[in-house]
Amino acid sequence: MITSKLPNVGITIFTQMSQLAAQTGAINLSQGFPDFDGPQALRDAVGRHIASGHNQYSPMTGLPVLREQIAAKIARSYGVQVNADSEVTVTPGATQAIFCAIQAVIHSGDEVIVFDPCYDSYAPATELAGGRCVHVQLNPNDFSIDFDKLAAALSPRTKMIVINTPHNPSGALITRAELDQLAALIRDRDIYLISDEVYEHLVFDGVPHVSVLAHEELYQRAFVVSSFGKTYHVTGWKTGYVVAPPALTAELRKVHQYVSFCGVTPLQYALADYMAEHPEHVEELPGFYQAKRDLFCDLLAPSRFTFKRVTGTYFQLVDYSQIRPDLNDVEMATWMTREHGVASIPVSVFYQNPPEGQRLVRLCFAKREETLREAAAKLCVI
Ligand code: PMP
Ligand code: GLN
Repeated sequence: MITSKLPNVGITIFTQMSQLAAQTGAINLSQGFPDFDGPQALRDAVGRHIASGHNQYSPMTGLPVLREQIAAKIARSYGVQVNADSEVTVTPGATQAIFCAIQAVIHSGDEVIVFDPCYDSYAPATELAGGRCVHVQLNPNDFSIDFDKLAAALSPRTKMIVINTPHNPSGALITRAELDQLAALIRDRDIYLISDEVYEHLVFDGVPHVSVLAHEELYQRAFVVSSFGKTYHVTGWKTGYVVAPPALTAELRKVHQYVSFCGVTPLQYALADYMAEHPEHVEELPGFYQAKRDLFCDLLAPSRFTFKRVTGTYFQLVDYSQIRPDLNDVEMATWMTREHGVASIPVSVFYQNPPEGQRLVRLCFAKREETLREAAAKLCVI
């Protein structure tokens, strides 16, 4: 008999819904990934590096050329200088980065505060470290932090807080004022921060992404995580990075070197080349995805779903209370996939205790125009 270390964990909703979409032939707007490829020059560069013999382990910390490009991008985007050697670590994906950061600092009995709805990897990573997740709900109307609830959740055992901006699944952004409030709240406490910023370049309507990298006080205790998967449309490359002050980076690397040792070498070379040759890519991303958001939302306007356009990420939440209030969101997502040919993600799975009566599903708009048109046509007749 196996005594599971994660007795309450099953197969993730992303796998379940993608499988259901594949089985039923539905358009898959569930799991977040583009249905188009990353830039041709980036893909060509991988082949070039494989052909030219860049096929052995990279340095454990990541290729120096890539870490330099990451530091240069951070300087351009946020106006801060991080040390590419002592503060930047390349990882096989943001998920691994988050896992390693949690293992690096969480001891048995420590508490980690997460905000619901929250990304599904934070809690299992905490439990495997022997810690306990304390779930604090974001404000239901705009998914901002409820600071009264956060203050009430702090305890002498709180060792870490995980924030996520732009936020999956809601698309909400944390403001500078909120970061200041967070800094004030934990100023005299020994609490680390993970700032999951994998959607850092997917922000719309001219609203800037406020990175913890640019918050001098919070950065001193933070692991800031990003993912090339989102930024370069290559989620299957599973390549990301963590930026943290030297002492935290040293602890993170102790774990990372035994979880994977390093990321995939030719992918790192290709990303370094592409970042050097196309620094404009990240500046063009907001416009690129805003056009997709607007197309999708315009197409959905005549439907019976109600929604507020998201400010960040490539997900749009839609409320279906006017359509099937009798169904909970898991039932709704399943019914929509089977009967109407569009797969989505039910939002309740991102909660420890889903709010009573919430009727939301998440739709991914990182899709080609024809996919969005086809999906919207189906959604408009539900
Ligand atoms: N954090 C959030 C909020 C995400 O949505 C994702 C998406 N997969 C990740 C982390 C993980 O990124 P990666 O695929 O690079 O592991
Ligand atoms: N981040 C992606 C999402 O939210 C899924 C990643 C995964 O499948 N684990 O849809």
